[in-house]
Amino acid sequence: SIVVTGATGHLGRHVVRQLLEKVPADRITAVVRSKEKAADFAARGVQLAVADYNAPETFDGLFSAGDKVLLISGNEFDKGRVGQHKVVIDAARNAGAALLAYTSAPGTLSAALADDHRGTEEALLASGVPYALLRNGWYNENYTENLAPVLQHNAVVQAAGEGRVASAARADYAGAAVAVLTGEGHENQTYELGGDTAWGFAEYAAELSRQTGKEIAYHAVPVEAFTEILAGAGLPAPFAAILAGVDLSIEKGELGTVTGDLSRLTGRPTTPIADSIAAALKS
Ligand code: NDP
Repeated sequence: SIVVTGATGHLGRHVVRQLLEKVPADRITAVVRSKEKAADFAARGVQLAVADYNAPETFDGLFSAGDKVLLISGNEFDKGRVGQHKVVIDAARNAGAALLAYTSAPGTLSAALADDHRGTEEALLASGVPYALLRNGWYNENYTENLAPVLQHNAVVQAAGEGRVASAARADYAGAAVAVLTGEGHENQTYELGGDTAWGFAEYAAELSRQTGKEIAYHAVPVEAFTEILAGAGLPAPFAAILAGVDLSIEKGELGTVTGDLSRLTGRPTTPIADSIAAALKS
């Protein structure tokens, strides 16, 4: 089987939908915390397994020998994500999984956000399970799904200076995961995934202006000011600091490398940021 954790998350939903276009539904298992949230998958014939990274016993017997597993990284930053991910890696090793693909972060990313991904990669390599590292770059949606304050103030506020981002849509990263899960020869490979073009926030603001008819400008602020703005918007202080740290990495160019790995895996160009803006403005 092909087994996908985090299947009811944003990325996981894209993965399951794209898998359904390539393999019979009964060969796909969605690992979920809530069956209700996955009712649409079940209706299409996808197998469901209920498990939680925080409860290792829920992964006992979940995988079978020969399974290809996609471990989608969790989003509980305060719960020790490396330990959570190890639960899945150990279960995959004990079962004799054929492949474990993990959604990691770019190798160039030095921000604190990357620490859990480096730790998980180390655990995966040490486990001896055949692995595929899907080092996902930034999602277009990180920006385009948060347009409300931008449109309210006619301002894109970031602490990334003139730094550039080679982002792609979640659906593109899902396509790469599906290519690895359904194709051959991806064992022990590392993919640096990102968009085919890199853009800066001044260009992003200009594109927003073009599509909305408003005058939206980029305000580059220092990282301390950005941390305060994020905290003021309601983010818990430690998380605000982590996100602001990402902007520093962007300024240094750590999320701006264009490798072409993503479009090579999917066989199609990545989704331009302008398309994701258009989709967000329509919704
Ligand atoms: P989501 O937050 O939409 O999805 C996270 C998924 O992880 C959900 O399906 C959630 O389950 C599952 N999950 C969280 N905790 C547990 C747990 N304890 N046990 C089992 N499952 C758990 O994120 P996305 O789909 O957008 O992105 C996937 C991952 O990529 C994120 O979790 C994060 O690690 C990373 N990310 C990457 C970004 C990038 O730009 N590259 C940006 C943001 C995140 P449930 O559906 O039950 O809530």
